Amino acid sequence: MHPNDPKLRSFIDVDPSSDFPIQNLPYGVFFTPERPDLRVGVAIGDFVLDLAVLEAAGLIRFENASGVFARPSLNAFMALGPKVWSKTRARISELLRHDHPEFRDNRELRNRALVAQDFAQMHMPIEVQGFTDFYSSKEHATNVGIMFRGKDNALMPNWLSIPIGYNGRASTVVVSGTPILRPRGQLKPPTADQPSFGPCKRLDFELEMGVVIGQASAMGEMLTEQQAQEMIFGFTLLNDWSARDIQAWEYVPLGPFQAKAFGTSISPWVVTREALEPFRVHGPVQDPVPLPYLQQKGANNYDLQLSVDLKAEKMAKPNTISRTNFKYMYWSSVQQLVHHASSGCAMNVGDLLGSGTISGAEKSERGSMLELSWGGAEPLDLGNGVQRSFLEDGDSLSMRGWCQGDGYRIGFGEVEGTILAAL
Ligand code: MN
Repeated sequence: MHPNDPKLRSFIDVDPSSDFPIQNLPYGVFFTPERPDLRVGVAIGDFVLDLAVLEAAGLIRFENASGVFARPSLNAFMALGPKVWSKTRARISELLRHDHPEFRDNRELRNRALVAQDFAQMHMPIEVQGFTDFYSSKEHATNVGIMFRGKDNALMPNWLSIPIGYNGRASTVVVSGTPILRPRGQLKPPTADQPSFGPCKRLDFELEMGVVIGQASAMGEMLTEQQAQEMIFGFTLLNDWSARDIQAWEYVPLGPFQAKAFGTSISPWVVTREALEPFRVHGPVQDPVPLPYLQQKGANNYDLQLSVDLKAEKMAKPNTISRTNFKYMYWSSVQQLVHHASSGCAMNVGDLLGSGTISGAEKSERGSMLELSWGGAEPLDLGNGVQRSFLEDGDSLSMRGWCQGDGYRIGFGEVEGTILAAL
């Protein structure tokens, strides 16, 4: 049976509402209090399957490599390439099947290799080599454009031709649960004559997906749609924290700089491209037709539901402030990657691409506070007298994502971050 078959079952009980059925098998890096060394595992139900233990026991083997999973990141595994990714996923699926005795009936090995997720501390899954952030939702770009430049100049003339992006910072990409310090920067509100330096007053999140690049491309090389596809290892949730007041003053003429360099959060589990195959859909019709090198034949978008929760310190439980879908994106991840390499720019194993903020057409589908509160003009009412235009100290922001199958879901877990006061 194919590892994506909806009929597959594991000997480990998995609730239908779980993000991690046997059809998912996302990769992450973790440690436990008893064993502080970092290693690779996959999520299954409420457990982490320790792949370093299975590899050491000889249940998973690689032709020309060893100790692939006894590493602090997925980079060594990703470097082995898409055929190995596929073979390894099929093998892990086999070992977890309810009707396959090899691992199921090895009680001693099961005790060592299955760790309750409550005892596992998740770590950054990849060593990020480069972080590039795109701007590929037409709804988001239009909303921001109206606020920054007015209705007549909302979408810049290049937007429908180029997947717009900028080179961000790999150094401040952090895993879910890492607190985010309120950034400092130069501020010059329209009412001020001179800029001043201080804590950001318009702190925002951006709901995005992270694309994990698992194969390198050579400097000078251009990519086809197929090649780009095969370089994508998987996806994470991504929060591209943004300082809107710093951004508004600094972004002309070279784009964002410090406004988006102080923290980017990703979810700890990397869901493989292969696990998402059943959920492929075509993106919106592209008009004008893109230049030939950007044209795509495949359905390169995904029907992936997303939600954002906000919890202020004094709220008992979080409030869902946005629900949207990754399928709305105008430019696909494949087009972004093809464009990224098109000049001759080399891509590396461990590069991370941010999809760009994911907003839909409805107000409830907006992927940032800037859009949800319309630049602060329409504050969100979170109940109990709590209102928000932008994020305040102590606020916890969490994002979830999942593809709904028939009786199971391919989930991403969550990416959470809590705002700390500026130092
Ligand atoms: Mn962004």
